[in-house]
Amino acid sequence: MASLKLSHIYKVYENGHKAVNDFSIDIDDKEFIVFVGPSGCGKSTTLRMIAGLEQITTGDLFIGDNLVNDMEPKDRDIAMVFQNYALYPHMTVYENMAFGLRNRHMPEEEIKEKVLEAAKILDITDYLDRKPKAMSGGQRQRVALGRAIVRDPKVFLLDEPLSNLDAKLRAEMRTQITKLHKRLGATFIYVTHDQVEAMTMGTRIVVMKLGYVQQIDKPMNLYNKPYNKFVAGFIGTPQMNFFDVTLKRENDTVSILFKDGSKIELPYENVCKVHDKYLHGDVNVIFGIRPEHIFVSEEKTGLSCTVTSIERLGNETIIYGDLGSEASEFTMKDEGKSIIIKTVQDKEFEIGEVINLAISPEKIHLFDGQTEVTIMHDIPEYNAIAAKVSKDELELLDAKVKLNPVYFEAVKDAKDVLLEVSPEAFVPGKDFKLPVVKIEKIEDKNLAYLRYKDSYIFALVDENVKEGSEYAFSLRFDKIRVLVDGNVVSDIVSDRDCLRGRFEMNQLGRNDYEFFYNINDTKLKTSEKNGYKINTVEGNNCYKKIYKYEFNRCDVKIAENGIPAKLIEVKDFGNQKYALVDVAGQNLLVLVDANFDSAAKDLYISLDSEKLEVWQEESNFRIC
Ligand code: ADP
Repeated sequence: MASLKLSHIYKVYENGHKAVNDFSIDIDDKEFIVFVGPSGCGKSTTLRMIAGLEQITTGDLFIGDNLVNDMEPKDRDIAMVFQNYALYPHMTVYENMAFGLRNRHMPEEEIKEKVLEAAKILDITDYLDRKPKAMSGGQRQRVALGRAIVRDPKVFLLDEPLSNLDAKLRAEMRTQITKLHKRLGATFIYVTHDQVEAMTMGTRIVVMKLGYVQQIDKPMNLYNKPYNKFVAGFIGTPQMNFFDVTLKRENDTVSILFKDGSKIELPYENVCKVHDKYLHGDVNVIFGIRPEHIFVSEEKTGLSCTVTSIERLGNETIIYGDLGSEASEFTMKDEGKSIIIKTVQDKEFEIGEVINLAISPEKIHLFDGQTEVTIMHDIPEYNAIAAKVSKDELELLDAKVKLNPVYFEAVKDAKDVLLEVSPEAFVPGKDFKLPVVKIEKIEDKNLAYLRYKDSYIFALVDENVKEGSEYAFSLRFDKIRVLVDGNVVSDIVSDRDCLRGRFEMNQLGRNDYEFFYNINDTKLKTSEKNGYKINTVEGNNCYKKIYKYEFNRCDVKIAENGIPAKLIEVKDFGNQKYALVDVAGQNLLVLVDANFDSAAKDLYISLDSEKLEVWQEESNFRIC
């Protein structure tokens, strides 16, 4: 078994350069994982840390069940193949392949058997007596692979092995390496900057940018459901087209409004999971569409372009154009105006021609204009549902429910409130009833499209809820956020919470230190390992900064001593009761027993420092 686990791995080089940040992945036995991203994004550094050629700054690396951070490369049962082959020029192919085994004092007979077998797999049996310089690049790379194969490792690490080869040979070797992976039944980790290699070879791909992981997914998920604009643009050639737009819904139609006045209309169905706040024409959105999902239309559409150049490839034609009926004459590429279309339509196009464009509505991508993260999540984060307050009742979805006492104070003077209802808030019950228009299976979850007036409400439901039926449900108020005039008056009680505080070190003697998290002037001792981690990742600034200490809500308790806190109030969510406490100006909900006595205002909360995760506030990245 050669599974690997990388857990919150960081690499800070000696010059202070942070090459890899918070890299985590679980790799299964026999997977073919590809690390891909532009040059300098930290792919090789990560691979070299796995190989043991580069020290891991912080984080844990497991091969199988063993923590191997400090294990010598030779003991890790891995083999690495480099871009430059790293063959010994004075040795024959046979000797190159045998070299490592001889170093391990393997009997000559056994070495011969292994080298011949590997040579057969790689089809280099005829070259065993040659020296590397008498071979082509492709053949040399096969020798390099052979040298790895003879060692029979559990994990193969390949660092841009094909980038010195010409295009045709690269394509050929891609197929060979994929076959080799199947045949050997080992785990492969492959680094490349070439997205085509990544897409064709990987069972899963890690897309990286500037030292940060952007998305880890199967190839087709990266193509169909890119998490952000970067991934969307990186995967696919020619690149996805992006435009700054706004969206406006009118009944069953949503218009995509371009800056230059162009307009595409889509059925609301195609964007029904997009949050309503984006659909009023006043929030910037990035619209993405791949060149292969745009069609040249005979009829007039809301979108047209002037053809600026054409590439005829035989089986397909790439058209470059500028939106509208005038081409931009003076710029090579007018950002936000230029568009690329890939078509297989058998039609002659001419430069200067104005063509009408249509798109496949189900193939569009939408990203938040600011964060550049997708706004088309498979499972929407929450439903925005308007509600009315009257006395102690809340009226929503054509039904009335008793206002939860927790919210009463906050909303009693308001008439209209907005509820942000998580799809997880729905439980079978009697308060509401809505028709189930559709059930979508998303991995192991069932997402119900409940129809209410002209919108959908998305709910995660049990398997026994069927399309076409009426779903009777109640809502879990701990999964609902309430807003009055745009301000949140209740927070969702999530499973996790955090407190902010400082990080401190105390020197006991030469090379003897102890480390603390300081929350509300209370020192929580932490391990030396975590202490050094924070110091290494953050440098000596760490003693001046405020960190976010995150924990599972079930790990915080009211206790006899610990961190001082003031009780603000007791909140009863019906099925669960919480004490809302103030810890140095930070509010925290602590789960308490049903019979919790609320008389005392001054109390203490306990937290186990070993269960705290430390997060950097500015970049929101986990350190340990
Ligand atoms: P990639 O493989 O994605 O091209 P690398 O992992 O080689 O990227 O490098 C990531 C970043 O770390 C780059 O900015 C690179 O300049 C820097 N880097 C690599 N090696 C060192 C080193 N030994 N010392 C300092 N910085 C380094």
